[in-house]
Amino acid sequence: MEKHCPYVERCGFFDKYGHRSSRTWKNLVALYCQGGLCHCCTLYRRYATGRLSLEDDLLPTGEPVPLPFHALP
Ligand code: SF4
Repeated sequence: MEKHCPYVERCGFFDKYGHRSSRTWKNLVALYCQGGLCHCCTLYRRYATGRLSLEDDLLPTGEPVPLPFHALP
């Protein structure tokens, strides 16, 4: 099982939030995109079945990104 997500290069979520500096974003990215939970990510499952994800404002948990999160660096 891969440790890092193989879809970081094409993932809209990672492109938009993967390099933010706040602890919230860093923790999410560390757990999912760069960690062992990538297989649990909603977007990962879509990519794995060949579907493009048009939503980059969806958390790996499948929830919409909460409005306050948008303001976090
Ligand atoms: S959000 Fe999901 S699909 Fe995108 S890079 Fe992170 S773990 Fe992979």
